[in-house]
Amino acid sequence: MNEILPNLYNIKVPLPRNPLHFINSYVIKAKDRSLIIDTGMNLKECEDAIRAGLSELGIDLRRALVFVTHFHRDHIGLVPHLASDTLTVYFNKIEADIVQEYISEGDGRYWWGRHLDFLRIRGFPEEELQNVVETDRDRGYQLRGRLDLRIVKEGDYLESGDYSFRCVETPGHSPGHMCLYEPREKILISGDHILGDITPIIALWSDEMNPLKDYLASLNKIRNLDVEYVLPGHGNTFTNFKARIEELKQHHKTRTSEVLQILRRGAQNAYQIASQMTWDVTEPWNRLPSSQRWFACGEALAHLKYLEEKGKVLRHIQNQMILFSLK
Ligand SMILES: [Zn+2]
Repeated sequence: MNEILPNLYNIKVPLPRNPLHFINSYVIKAKDRSLIIDTGMNLKECEDAIRAGLSELGIDLRRALVFVTHFHRDHIGLVPHLASDTLTVYFNKIEADIVQEYISEGDGRYWWGRHLDFLRIRGFPEEELQNVVETDRDRGYQLRGRLDLRIVKEGDYLESGDYSFRCVETPGHSPGHMCLYEPREKILISGDHILGDITPIIALWSDEMNPLKDYLASLNKIRNLDVEYVLPGHGNTFTNFKARIEELKQHHKTRTSEVLQILRRGAQNAYQIASQMTWDVTEPWNRLPSSQRWFACGEALAHLKYLEEKGKVLRHIQNQMILFSLK
């Protein structure tokens, strides 16, 4: 465990069998109510790391506050296990509704079903869809249990010890993603909105959304904040806040051009398009596990949706399959 600023600690929570390796949990130690930001997955390894870190700091979990940046399971998964009647969990409204629906459906079969249909008609092969579902089930970190959430929105403040964090809504990586900004210490707890070592995935899983458009707007929204330290959800703390935002914008610009280039070869489905895009992985496309191709497809679709709304790409339906082409 490492003390980043006075009474602000980082617990590196391991993510076994996950290419991200760790998620950062941040802890503010306070006399009255300590604040814990993000927790890890619903896995024993994560729970052990969090409980050991908190006990080393002498923090009583029953009297703590928890804030969760977004609903991905590496950030919220463990929260139901830590919950008690006296633990307060702050979360955004959009994702609170989704998470409650997911939990109420038991193993989320219906929720999964909608995801599978969405990708199936966009070219994702049936056999690979089954691989994705099985891998997810085998890993056993599904979100389960009761969650009483206290909703926070843009501009709300969370106080703990000497720190006063402002909630900043930053949709894109997920629909309700939220960062915490501390203006006096000039720190941004960025969740997965900006990461220093890797680019956060921006993926489309439902046609009502345009996550890349939201993401770019959220990057522009925070770029004028006075930030000295960024405390990301994964990887190391970093300082080059504005330069990193520009790099992330450039990354998506390059990727958008690549998608247009691929579409010059003719109308294709999202799976075919994703297979020709450049990914930051060591293996070629045909050796990637289905779960990675699944995320790649989601990211390709986010770019296609963005280009479609900009009037540069058209979609057609052919033999019950959605194809994309240049306008
Ligand atoms: Zn994450």
